[in-house]
This record gives sequence, C-alpha cells and structure tokens, in this order.
Amino acid sequence: MIYNEKHIDVIVCGAGHAGVEAALAAARMGAPTLLLTGNLDTVAQMSCNPAIGGQAKGQMVREIDALGGEMAINTDVTGIQFRLLNESKGPAVQSPRAQCDKKAYQFRLKHTLELEPNLQIFQATVTGLIFKKGQVVGCQTNLDIDFLGQTVVVTTGTFLRGLMHIGQNKNEGGRLGDFSSKTLSDSFLQSGIELRRLKTGTPPRLLGRSLNFSKMQEQKGDDRPTLFAFHDTRASEGVFHVERTGEQRLGWPPGSNSISCWMTHTTPATAQIVRDNLHKSAMYSGQIEGVGPRYCPSFEDKIVRFADKPRHLLFLEPEGRATNEYYVNGLSTSLPFEVQLELVHSIPGLENAELLRPAYAVEYDFAPPTQLWPSLESRKVENLFFAGQINGTSGYEEAASQGLVAGVNAVNKVRGQAPLIIQRHEGYIGVLIDDLVTKGTNEPYRMFTSRAEHRLLFNHGSAELRLRHHARQYGLVSSARLARMEEKAGRVGHWVEHLEHHRLDHIPWGDHIRRFAAAHGLHAQTAKNGLGELPMPAALRQESVQVRDEVLYRVSYAGYLQREQRQIEKFASIDNIRIPRTINFLEVRGLRRESALKLADIKPATLGQASRISGVNPSDISVLMILIESGRAGESKQGLKLEG
Ligand SMILES: Cc1cc2nc3c(=O)[nH]c(=O)nc-3n(C[C@H](O)[C@H](O)[C@H](O)COP(=O)(O)OP(=O)(O)OC[C@H]3O[C@@H](n4cnc5c(N)ncnc54)[C@H](O)[C@@H]3O)c2cc1C
Repeated sequence: MIYNEKHIDVIVCGAGHAGVEAALAAARMGAPTLLLTGNLDTVAQMSCNPAIGGQAKGQMVREIDALGGEMAINTDVTGIQFRLLNESKGPAVQSPRAQCDKKAYQFRLKHTLELEPNLQIFQATVTGLIFKKGQVVGCQTNLDIDFLGQTVVVTTGTFLRGLMHIGQNKNEGGRLGDFSSKTLSDSFLQSGIELRRLKTGTPPRLLGRSLNFSKMQEQKGDDRPTLFAFHDTRASEGVFHVERTGEQRLGWPPGSNSISCWMTHTTPATAQIVRDNLHKSAMYSGQIEGVGPRYCPSFEDKIVRFADKPRHLLFLEPEGRATNEYYVNGLSTSLPFEVQLELVHSIPGLENAELLRPAYAVEYDFAPPTQLWPSLESRKVENLFFAGQINGTSGYEEAASQGLVAGVNAVNKVRGQAPLIIQRHEGYIGVLIDDLVTKGTNEPYRMFTSRAEHRLLFNHGSAELRLRHHARQYGLVSSARLARMEEKAGRVGHWVEHLEHHRLDHIPWGDHIRRFAAAHGLHAQTAKNGLGELPMPAALRQESVQVRDEVLYRVSYAGYLQREQRQIEKFASIDNIRIPRTINFLEVRGLRRESALKLADIKPATLGQASRISGVNPSDISVLMILIESGRAGESKQGLKLEG
C-alpha cells in the first residue's frame, strides 16, 4: 500500500546525523518532508565516540549552526564537557570540542524532529527505491508500505550491506545491535550507481565501576566552556520550548555540571599482545576488503606503523550523566574478544575492567561521491540526493554538514531554485563537498584544517558572518535571527574600520593591537582569559564578546586576511564560470585525452571545479574557457561542441 499523509516534497531515508539535518532543513524551508528510519530509538546515535567537534570539525558545527542546523544547539544542551582545542595557538585553528550525554543527545534530537511542523516521521526500513522515467519518485519499505515523494535524500550511513567483524566472528549490521540494509544496494546498482566498500572500527566500552581511576590522569573541561551555537543571535526561548504541559525537553543549561575524562596509556605488554595476535585481527587477516580510515587508525595499525613508540595515549570518555559506561578513545580494534580482554587488562587502571561492549570493525557499501553534482544530487538518477557516510566520509560533523546541504537542495530542486553551493573560501562545508564531488575518496574522508587552502578565514567565531547570505537566500534562519546576524556583521565592520582610522598617541589603534598580538599572542586576550593589557578603545570593551573577539581577530591578522582575499578574488573569476551540463568533453578539440576522460567522468559544474581535478592542467582550462566564451557569444566553432 501507499501511505502518504500528504503530498511530500522530500523523503529522507535514515535518521543518523546526516538524515536529521536534511529533514529539519527541508521542513524548516516549508517543504512537506518525510523522514523514514529503521529504528526511531536510534535517531542521531553516536556510533563511535560520544563527542562532537574537534579540529576543523568544531568549525563545521558552527557553520551548521549558522545555516540553521541543529547539531550545535543539541550539543550545547546535552554536553557534559567542553574544551577549546589549540587554545594556546592562533584563533584560526582553535576548535571547540564537547563530550555529550549520548542518550540525551539522541532523544532530544528525536523530540526536535517530533516538534517540527512540516515533518512526518515514520519507522520503517527502506528496501528499495521507486523509479519512473530515470527519476526517483519514492521508496519501498520492509513493511510493504510505499511512500511517494518528489525527491529522495539517502543517508543510510554504514548500514548498506553492513558486516561487523570481531576476529573471526561476523555479524550483519550497520553497527552493533542494529540491522544491515541489504536490498537497497541493489536498487542503486540497478540504476547504474557504482558502489564500493569501506571499513571503520570502534573501541570497547567499559564499566566505570570496574576501573581504577587513581592510576589515571584526570582531564577536566574548561572552566568557561566554549559553546557551539551562536547564542548571541539565537532566540533562547526555542531551546527548551515544548508543545504541551507535561512534556519535557531534555537538556540542561549549556556548560553546567561538567564530567571529567581520564587519561591512561598502553604498555609494552599491550603492544606485544597485539603483535602476537595480529594474524587473528579481521583487518589484518585479509577478511575485510574495504579500505579503512588512515587518520583514525585501528590499534593494530598503530602498533604496526609506529613500532618504536613505547606507549600510546588513551582517553576514557564518559558516555553520559546517567550511565557508568566509558568509551576508550584510541583502542579501536577488530581482534578476537579474548585478545581484547587481555589487551584491556594490560593497561594501567584497566587491570580489572569489565567490558560492556566489544570493539569491532564494520565494512559497508558507499557510493563514490564523484557521481554527484555539487548540489549532492546524483548525476545518474534525477531527484536522488546522497549525504553522509554513504558518500565515503567519516564523522558526525561531516555527515551533518552534507545532510543539511542535501536537504536544502532537495527543496531547491522541487522549487526550481538554484542549489546552495558553499564555495571553498566560505567554509569547511564548501571544502568538504567540493573535495568529495571533484576528487572523490578511496578511504573514509575526514575533515582537517589542512584540506582548506583559505583556513585563515575559517576561525570558528566568523561562521555566521561567512554564511549568512546563504541563510538569507534560502530562508534557513528566522528573520529575527537574520537581523541579529546582520547587526553583528555591521558592528564588526564598523570597529574594524574604526580601529584602522582612529589613533592613540598618533598611531592607529590597529597597529597597537597588532603589535600587542605579535608580542603576546591574541589567544591570551580572548574573552576566556580576560582582556588584560590589550590596547583598545573603551567603547570596544563594552561590545559583546562575540563582536569583540571577531574584531580583534580581523585587525590582528589584517595583512594575512587581505592576502587571502586577494587570492580568492584571483580565482573567483573562473569559479563563477559555469560549464554547461551538456558539454561533450570527449569532442572538445585541444583537450588532452586524459583530461577529457576525467572531465567527462566528474562533469564539473564550473571552470574552478574543473581546475581542481587532478590531472587537468591550466592549458585544458584555457581550452574550456575559450569554448565557453565562444558559446556565449554564439560563435559555434567546428569541433567545439556546446549543446547546452
Ligand atoms: C563501528 C563504527 C565506528 C566508527 N568510527 C568512527 C570514528 O572513529 N571516527 C569517526 O569520525 N566516525 C566514526 N564512525 C562514523 C560515524 O558514526 C559516522 O560517520 C556518522 O554516524 C555518519 O552519519 P550518517 O548520518 O551518514 O549515518 P549513520 O549515523 O550511520 O546513520 C544512518 C541512519 O540510517 C538508518 N538507516 C540505515 N539504513 C536504512 C534503511 N534502509 N532504511 C531506513 N533507515 C536506514 C539507520 O537506522 C541510521 O539511523 C563510526 C561508525 C561506526 C558504525
């Protein structure tokens, strides 16, 4: 049967980190949206560590917040420890990170979905897609109930033909205790979408009361937590708002009641246990065909690759306020359970640890993302969008970022509007999606600051200022919040200008600030540590922390930021030149064969994107530029085939 309560614009399959942002973004744009997920009790489950943020990822969460997403605010009100990473370094690379109460995080997000007016949610496993004339028009489910919709966003994470490994032991599933989505892969393959295998792993979870914390080092959160959401522009009343009396929203005042993490380390005995049992590891015995994350290696990987390192640091991270379960950050493995026990017991403080859940590896299908347009729509099937781990990424923040963009663009597709494309110089989300659709990935892709050539512009405090034009264009935040964002941008602009043109002792304020920052470091002056002796006009001291920090950042690094801006302007010209979708690269005279094949495969949307494809060189770009220019002028030349 078909069960559509109403006409649906966007169907989202899967309520992981990508799915919830996709569904909320689409519904908040006013589009009738349906979210189908295999288990409503695992909405936004943190499959691996109970933490959000970190280097580059923390900035992405702020970008999600700037675009009206939910991850930041949900983290703030369910966080149990907040730390600003790289606090002693420059603000460009400082990143917020938080431990979360895993269950509170999930349940609050589920409640948020329930409260969203344009959103219908339903528990069912999508078993296949319904196609009509090369377009997707709906989903089939395991309950023999079908759903029809104008667009479909697939966010099924690690579940497509998910297979878990603990030594020789194998279980089907996207993660421990969950199902494996087996037939959906066939739907993709039938429609010409290529799938490949990747793998990832997770450490064991331990019972807190069996641990000896006196042998470990305590790691407390920051006294003054750095939160993720822009609380200065958000309306606070929405955060704990409920629909009826008796209903309660989970969460607590951001930053309150922090819980400690604990540090310990492996020993030479731990390394020896791994070496003795390497042949039993699912990853090392050749049982897993998928490629694993190079940057988040298994413990076996670390022992093999860094053989001379006597110890590896481990972090015991609490999974929540109302549980005694601990996550062992750094001990991801697919060794057999009996070896895991031995391994854990060789670690100081964990000698008598009881395991609540074993470590394991999971391998799964992903759809290489070079099959997508920059809007995240499939190039093979119209109206079908992909977001999250299915695109070959790893991490909650990467998934949520893509989910938000795919949700917005599914609505844009239905409405015939131009897609939301975040440029590489606008934020990490832009870098992420451009990298995925242009270069693809052969291993789980994770964001790093080093992937962004304009990372100096991506300090976490500026995300709203960088992205507010997109929020305005697509109606992603309320008009009241948008007005507060504009007001903030105005204050920042005013002060940056003022400090360069007004003087103290005949020297511009800006020069005083730069000298001070060069001598003492700007980080010492942030709101966290007080303003100290930093020279600034009295009225600037009265501004909000958010405005003041951004002004000080922009003034202190003015020279570098201006250089970045010049670089961006230099490349903007080619980034803005669109390549017609119907161009036949293989028939373009003057293009090298190798480039033509790559261009035909990736189908870049702009000349800028084409220039970032490895193997495509500047002379190829010149050929394309001439072709496009002549097409524009209506001078169709022989061999320069421009069909659209
Ligand atoms: C074992 C393991 C270890 C990991 N280790 C790390 C790590 O070390 N570092 C890191 O950054 N990330 C790690 N991750 C990845 C991280 O969990 C993901 O990147 C992130 O959760 C991806 O979000 P997502 O929304 O794409 O998918 P998921 O969070 O996996 O969510 C997928 C959702 O889709 C639903 N679903 C699946 N199939 C269907 C279907 N057919 N019909 C309906 N609903 C469906 C599921 O129920 C689930 O709600 C790990 C994941 C796993 C499983």
